[in-house]
Amino acid sequence: MYDWLIVGAGFAGSVLAERLATERGEKVLIIDRRPHIGGNAYDRFDEAGLLIHQYGPHIFHTNSDQIFDYLSRFTQWRPYEHRVLAEVDGKQLPIPINLDTINGLYGLDLTSEQLTDWFAARAETVEEIKTSEDVVVSQVGRELYEKFFRGYTLKQWGVDPSQLDKSVTSRVPTRTNRDDRYFTDQHQAMPLNGYTKMFEQMLAHPNIHIMLQTDYADVVDEVQFKRLIFTGPIDEFFEYRFGRLPYRSLSFEHVTLEKEWHQPVAVVNCPMQHDYTRVTEYKYLTGQQHSKTSLTYEYPAADGDPYYPIPRPENAERFRKYDELARQTPDVWFVGRLATYRYYNMDQVVGQALATFKRIQAEVPADHSL
Ligand code: FAD
Ligand code: UDP
Repeated sequence: MYDWLIVGAGFAGSVLAERLATERGEKVLIIDRRPHIGGNAYDRFDEAGLLIHQYGPHIFHTNSDQIFDYLSRFTQWRPYEHRVLAEVDGKQLPIPINLDTINGLYGLDLTSEQLTDWFAARAETVEEIKTSEDVVVSQVGRELYEKFFRGYTLKQWGVDPSQLDKSVTSRVPTRTNRDDRYFTDQHQAMPLNGYTKMFEQMLAHPNIHIMLQTDYADVVDEVQFKRLIFTGPIDEFFEYRFGRLPYRSLSFEHVTLEKEWHQPVAVVNCPMQHDYTRVTEYKYLTGQQHSKTSLTYEYPAADGDPYYPIPRPENAERFRKYDELARQTPDVWFVGRLATYRYYNMDQVVGQALATFKRIQAEVPADHSL
């Protein structure tokens, strides 16, 4: 008899397994249908011996001391600030759009102050910013929107930015200075020995039992447990009662090249051309030294593993129905990017899992005889 069955060994499931086992001494069975722990953050060494991210580049960043300190119990860190270039009009230019992007693209020599006016002269007036198109055209105008955002977003999401919630392109700021970092968070670092090693540390507790290649539906009637934490897709849990929640998928092409380096930074985005959205060169993230280099090309897809909840009003509405049902389902907690249908970064999922643990502490007595 387990105190908890946890479905999914990604950040949401693993943080909760660790907390419940360590703080409450409870017995946890954590399962995952995949053959590994770590969820989408899983990394592994490829045939050349290079550390790659199986499900695309994962860069850790957070403004929360609490989240950073918590994860620091399970890993040391390698300081890393992420930089991305976008391939536009035959040039590789900084994204987020900054002073060097504009000067480089148009052969100008603007100052930051002049760039503020330059943007203002091109920005469109939008009464109420609702969509991902509104966000960009209201800041930098239509031409830069077309060059840097429209094509990328169409590929990535399969819908026009005008049909996507503003939260999607709001993830990428616009700058008038020369800061070319992708993120400005206080903590930016990669787990020194990789994510999978960090997850191994997190789950290395005698009260935690791990079963991989195990689907919830196949074991729910066989395993004895008192309470459930579900981190898979919430619509799947409720057997699609209100219809399917759409997710965007990706297929990943991993390649190794017989040369030391391929591109000038870790990620090159391709908004205007190719079927893939971006190319990642892992050695920038890991600091690994090697005579070869491994890359991943990301091809967006409608079908496949669910990677991205799609932020559109009708999807939010459908999720609300599932969420309502979830609230009426006793002894089950729904946590993580798929179970709460939120476009969350890793740190946000860790924060959500830690907050869920607090709720459990308040609501569920740690009584092993229950
Ligand atoms: P997941 O990692 O998806 O884990 C859920 C697990 O549940 C999966 O392993 C799945 O196999 C398992 N599961 C589901 N259903 C079942 C079932 N029925 N039975 C058994 N097992 C089941 N975040 C960042 O902070 N920085 C980044 O740079 C970044 N890059 C990203 C790049 C890509 C391409 C993607 C897709 C995401 C990226 N993210 C990034 C987001 C990050 O991956 C997520 O925030 C985080 O991994 C979510 O953790 P989770 O535990 O909620 O979900
Ligand atoms: N985006 C874009 N062009 C870019 C980078 C991002 O149009 O060069 C848009 C696109 O819609 C993307 C969103 O901004 O899905 C968020 O970008 P982010 O890099 O945060 O995506 P993620 O890493 O989550 O895939």
